[in-house]
Amino acid sequence: MEKLYYNGDIITMRKENDAPEAVLVSKGRIAFVGDLKEAKQRCTAETELVDLQGKTLMPSFIDAHGHITMLAQYTAFANLGKCTDFQQLEETLLAYQKEKDIQDGVMIAYGYDHNFLAEQKHPTKAVLDRVSAEIPICILHTSGHMCVANSALLEACGITEDTPDPEGGKFGREENGEPNGYIEEVPAMTKVLMFMFSRAAADFEKQMELAQNTYLKYGITTVQDGAVNPSAFQKLAAVAEAGGFCLDVIAYLMADEANQTVEAYPAYENQYCGRLKIGGEKIILDGSPQGRSAWLSKPYEGEETYCGYPACTDGQVKQWVENSIKAKRQLLAHCNGDAASQQYLDAFSQAVSDMPEKLEQVQALRPVMIHCQTVREDQLEEMSRLGMIPSIFVAHTWYWGDVHLKNLGPVRGSQISPVKSALQHGLVYNFHQDPPVVEPDMLHTVWCAVNRITRTGQPIGQEQCISVFEALKGITIHGAYAYHEEDRKGTLEAGKLADLVVLDRNPLKTDKMQIRDIQVLETVKEGKTLYRKEE
Ligand SMILES: [Zn+2]
Ligand SMILES: [Zn+2]
Repeated sequence: MEKLYYNGDIITMRKENDAPEAVLVSKGRIAFVGDLKEAKQRCTAETELVDLQGKTLMPSFIDAHGHITMLAQYTAFANLGKCTDFQQLEETLLAYQKEKDIQDGVMIAYGYDHNFLAEQKHPTKAVLDRVSAEIPICILHTSGHMCVANSALLEACGITEDTPDPEGGKFGREENGEPNGYIEEVPAMTKVLMFMFSRAAADFEKQMELAQNTYLKYGITTVQDGAVNPSAFQKLAAVAEAGGFCLDVIAYLMADEANQTVEAYPAYENQYCGRLKIGGEKIILDGSPQGRSAWLSKPYEGEETYCGYPACTDGQVKQWVENSIKAKRQLLAHCNGDAASQQYLDAFSQAVSDMPEKLEQVQALRPVMIHCQTVREDQLEEMSRLGMIPSIFVAHTWYWGDVHLKNLGPVRGSQISPVKSALQHGLVYNFHQDPPVVEPDMLHTVWCAVNRITRTGQPIGQEQCISVFEALKGITIHGAYAYHEEDRKGTLEAGKLADLVVLDRNPLKTDKMQIRDIQVLETVKEGKTLYRKEE
């Protein structure tokens, strides 16, 4: 099947002023990019002519970090994202219970954010107990780093006043030491989440289909599953074997259990099998700045000593880094606070300090620092030396910009997501939305990177703004680079996969403030249209 795209703006992403007239697609790949006349000479009688009618064609977008499994599971949960107080949380949960007719089983909801609730704090079990005293209920904070359980759930998991806080996590407590339902960070949340997720009724393949449709709607054809344990990979592999993936999915295995999965599924390591591949390993070094659990080198604004806290010891991080180099696996580390970034960098710097050939190995593996919210200039310098990739959650400037200015103070707060600095250090930065944390809306992210304005309309660190073309790189070719796929994806060039998106306007010619209003009209994976916006 051949298609010839013409009569529109074509952004190749090879260089800024590249404006070919036509793109010819054949057998899922780009066969030719250039003059319309020459393209037509290459057409056959069967070639379908696609008149773009002035619309814009460019490479489809690449999700540089997110969690497709979680996004899939969330399709079955209640969405609390629009709630503005405890009362609304309660009402939304009750409406969800009624809609899904939940009599027994469990209730899971996501997307609440205490920063945007009138009470300005996390709810406790008392709020959830009003919804149900018998059915276990868990509501997840939008950051994914904290949750609240009702009494039934705490009891089912055996969490009592005698349960100690685990290393790197904590249970909220009443004055008498009794747990109040609030649970912070993965080490403390694991038991509760395992209990809930294993009981949530699920048709995983159906949920995966819905999740893929979400990405397609935003023009994305390559996605990540950024924290996969062995049982989660088993489910992914089952979907892959059943032909359930229409997008490319790259899984990063939780480092502790990575070997187990690679040994069980060797065919997936660094190569696609049913559109699924294992890209490497993942570790999580701290929490989130909007939840005040990101690990900073200097105290939070207005605090004497509180800097957040690490999720792991230096020794653990060093071991994971050494292991990843030895196993030749790319390593991804969640680092929000600059102290977490330092811990990650120190582990790599130490690993390469003894042997120069090790530095080349590290550079070739392209380790990634995920989020980079408060990464410093000196750290970007070291990242450049190590060939480390900053994957930046730049939409933080809009979603939580006001919260960061408050929590971190005006100087550190305005330097959140320092994209321009990363660019100046020559780093191959890319962007993500960490779905399901927020919707994977790539053009909204581009808008954030070029405008840097908070939800309440405050400018935030405008000197960190970059150009539209530089921002588009962060969602196309730079994303491909992070997956070692820059030879197959990310630009429109002959020989690459025909992963394309059609937009209603050319972002390079659109007023910067209007970029988030640009519509994705069509998403194409290897020549096949998988999404078309309804008229
Ligand atoms: Zn993360
Ligand atoms: Zn994540």
